[in-house]
Amino acid sequence: MKLKSINSNVIIEPFRIRSVEPIRFTTIRERQKLLEKASWNPFLLKATDVLIDLLTDSGTGAMSSRQWAAMIESDESYAGSSSFYRFETAVRDITGFKHVIPTHQGRAAENILFSLLVRKGDVIPNNTHFDTTRAHVEHRSGQALDLIIKEGLEPLTIHPFKGNMDTVRLEETIRETLGETTGESTDEISSESQSERARKRIPVIMLTVTNNSGGGQPVSMANVREVSRIARKYGIPFFIDACRFAENSWFIKMREDGYQDKTPIDIARELFSYADGCTMSAKKDGMSNIGGYLALNDDDLARECRSLSILTEGFPTYGGMAGYDMEAVAAGLYEALDEGYLRYRIRSTEYLGEKLVDAGVSIIQPTGGHAVYIDARHMLPHIPPLQYPAWSLTNALYLTGGVRAVEIGSVMFGLQPDGTEKPAPMELVRLAIPRRVYTQSHIDYLADVVIHTYEQREKLDGYRIVAAPKVLRHFSARLEPLE
Ligand SMILES: *Cc1c(COP(=O)(O)O)cnc(C)c1O
Repeated sequence: MKLKSINSNVIIEPFRIRSVEPIRFTTIRERQKLLEKASWNPFLLKATDVLIDLLTDSGTGAMSSRQWAAMIESDESYAGSSSFYRFETAVRDITGFKHVIPTHQGRAAENILFSLLVRKGDVIPNNTHFDTTRAHVEHRSGQALDLIIKEGLEPLTIHPFKGNMDTVRLEETIRETLGETTGESTDEISSESQSERARKRIPVIMLTVTNNSGGGQPVSMANVREVSRIARKYGIPFFIDACRFAENSWFIKMREDGYQDKTPIDIARELFSYADGCTMSAKKDGMSNIGGYLALNDDDLARECRSLSILTEGFPTYGGMAGYDMEAVAAGLYEALDEGYLRYRIRSTEYLGEKLVDAGVSIIQPTGGHAVYIDARHMLPHIPPLQYPAWSLTNALYLTGGVRAVEIGSVMFGLQPDGTEKPAPMELVRLAIPRRVYTQSHIDYLADVVIHTYEQREKLDGYRIVAAPKVLRHFSARLEPLE
């Protein structure tokens, strides 16, 4: 008998589920009451009152039985635990970086790196700074410069690598910065003093893979290579914000010539080989619920980073993590690079995107790795930006189906430092997908909720803010629907 194997397009989860957490069903009347009690702010809901929780993909993933087993076998020593050495070996194996400094999460790695590198007036280029990265740069009075390619800012433009940095603007920025420092044209400076001067004003170039704030869009290997070439030409350290390095590696395999036959781990290794270091939140592609690290090659800088990490994180062989956390990350990094997992992960997000597009819902395209972003301004033209259309849609998704998403629009970004309000550039609703938590039928249900809400879009009302703090107001603002 010569039978052919099934070649199915159905997404099947590449795992069996042997530990489950019940989720609670509520009626629309209950949800109405719960949301009203939460001052119409989904951040103030209890997670147990949410059916499908898509607030973030950070630290919300499910761990594998192998990770739990490794955790039980962890070694809890203050200094030099075997759990640390397993963690260090895994990070070195994947990134190739010489020094591995554990931190309790990603922003702690940023804090250490930027405390040492960034001084007042410095310019830090990135494709797009993530919120905490920007905050750390600005906290040290540096300038966080986003140099994303123009397609990265156009929600409907299809481009395989919308997370790419505009390398022409990167080089222009470096040259302009040199010109400003010297008051001469850059051509008149010898290349050696040029690199010294560049280092003074641009202490590091960052690249975020995938580009979280830009919709989870990937960066191509060619772009990483070009950013690296420019950084080396001017003698500027190049660091990768690596939170979703595995998802980015999968996109390179799927979309970039020459990578189809490579494994995700080999792609990741090549990607890191072009950089001088990375910051990492293990709550994303570390497949862990907490943890992170700073990894780098420079011996002197690493020494300074370790000294500083003692102040905020703890001894450099645990850095704010328990031994069992380091075990979870050491195993999780490899699981994030597993082909079966990545195929399911990226396909599942893409599938959700396709269903929404087919129903007429506008989303940022192509679908990114960890989230789907709905364009609420387009869906709800009858709600003016300062009546918060994306907030309205977020609440409607909870009311219609118990889904919790997050507004990325004028409630989050509209308040100006002088106290006035200005509409945000886009009114988006982000559906961030936790790793290995929801199944295909959850995703089908989720698509139904969005489409069902879309069909009633004309009934959605705007909101007004009743009370809010001056900074990061979306987390605790109290609102009221305008009827
Ligand atoms: C989550 C994230 C961070 C910060 O990591 P935390 O673990 O949340 O501190 C930094 N950069 C990017 C791109 C992220 O997604």
